[in-house]
Amino acid sequence: MPDFFSADALIQGSYLLTAFLFIMGLKRMSSPVTARSGILWAGAGMLLAVLVTFLYPGMTNYPLIIAAIVVGSLIAWWSGKRVAMTDMPQMIALYNGMGGGAAAAIAAVELYKGGEHDLVTMILAVVGGLIGAVSFSGSAIAFGKLQGLIKRSFRFGGQQMFNLALLIGALVLGGMVALHLNTSPAIITGFFVVALVLGLTMTLPIGGADMPVVISLYNALTGLAVAFEGFVLGNAAMIIAGTVVGSAGTLLTQLMAKAMNRSLGNVLFSGFGDTGGAAAGEVKGSMKPIEATDVGVMMAFASKVIIVPGYGMAVAQAQHKVWELTQLLIDRGVTVKFAIHPVAGRMPGHMNVLLAEAGVPYDIIADLDEINAEFETTDVALIIGANDVVNPVARTDKSSPIYGMPILNADKAKNCIVVKRGQGAGFSGIENALFYLDNTRMLYGDGQKAAAELISAVKAIG
Ligand code: NAP
Repeated sequence: MPDFFSADALIQGSYLLTAFLFIMGLKRMSSPVTARSGILWAGAGMLLAVLVTFLYPGMTNYPLIIAAIVVGSLIAWWSGKRVAMTDMPQMIALYNGMGGGAAAAIAAVELYKGGEHDLVTMILAVVGGLIGAVSFSGSAIAFGKLQGLIKRSFRFGGQQMFNLALLIGALVLGGMVALHLNTSPAIITGFFVVALVLGLTMTLPIGGADMPVVISLYNALTGLAVAFEGFVLGNAAMIIAGTVVGSAGTLLTQLMAKAMNRSLGNVLFSGFGDTGGAAAGEVKGSMKPIEATDVGVMMAFASKVIIVPGYGMAVAQAQHKVWELTQLLIDRGVTVKFAIHPVAGRMPGHMNVLLAEAGVPYDIIADLDEINAEFETTDVALIIGANDVVNPVARTDKSSPIYGMPILNADKAKNCIVVKRGQGAGFSGIENALFYLDNTRMLYGDGQKAAAELISAVKAIG
């Protein structure tokens, strides 16, 4: 009869519960309404996984493990509390890199044992180690770029061949270890060094603005590496969590690339995404400025207003003022909705997070597919800090780098008001044809300041 109360049964049962909590957490994170509780579910799963690991027979080094957990938790708590919403992508890059690094460290421990594992386990350890090390150093570069520590993209002729040579080098060294041909510390160290360099050289040429897609890809790779190392350690929680993260990261990477109408290969190898890197297209006409007082009147007497937030709203931290303006308009009987493009801002869900932080109810926030048909019956489309996601050349100009990207049809509204500071281009670096249309007016200024002026203008109407 099986012993249901043995330490092993308790550990395996807890890992199953952990996996359930992770999956439920992920499920809840898919909607802004339940996302907060999703984080708690997944966090509870992680806590359970950590605690139950102490029951493993033969565990030693308790003081060291506890000290590591305390130090790690304190740093995570402090940084989590401090980080600004606009800095979230680099925070994710950093933590994601840690996951890859941890998987690579597990591989290193197992491989340095000197080939005591069977062939399959050795192969899994090597593959997980390679992916984890690439993800670790690549994520560190992604962090550096997003934090503004690395301002340039480093490119040289034959870079892709060089990266291919590094990959082959890592596979050869890893193969020697996995096949038990040579498991000396020098070869294992060489394998990890080459893998780490590969992560650096793969990521350095990619433009800073493409980093969110890259981070998402590394996130998927980290999950995969953790799953491989889970097999090595025989740890069910790691296998399940790693697979879930791997597939979620892959889906997210695909979704982001698709919403930008770019292939993953184009993101990784084209060198696109350097701020200001792409050529500005030719657009005829002129931009026509407008004063906040006039926009205030226009919106106060409109029957329907759609607000399109973009990266500039995040930079200006204008979300609270935008919500205040929205409430004033709703109180006047104006129908107000928010239109969210899937890649508005610099990370998936960027706008949803900001609007949720400001307290905007979810039922007036709509996705591109839901709202695009409504612009034609809208009196005012207020575009605040968005640029590429409303650029109509995506529909018409085959030579444009954003050609084919689905955009919000703000140009179809009766009036378009664009809030931005000046002539600054968006992420793609190209001119926006919307700004030159007859139905478009430019309200120049910082997003937060402009929203405050609009609030005063609407209030002044009484
Ligand atoms: P965008 O095209 O990057 O344009 C942002 C605009 O905001 C700029 O034109 C800028 O003009 C303005 N701005 C900046 N600071 C401002 C401030 N303080 N106040 C008011 N305006 C300000 O933004 P988007 O329309 O949100 O498009 C996102 C872009 O990022 C897309 O091309 C997308 O493909 C790319 N991207 C997104 C993700 C993602 O996951 N969301 C990932 C990777 C890449 P001024 O300088 O003149 O003010």
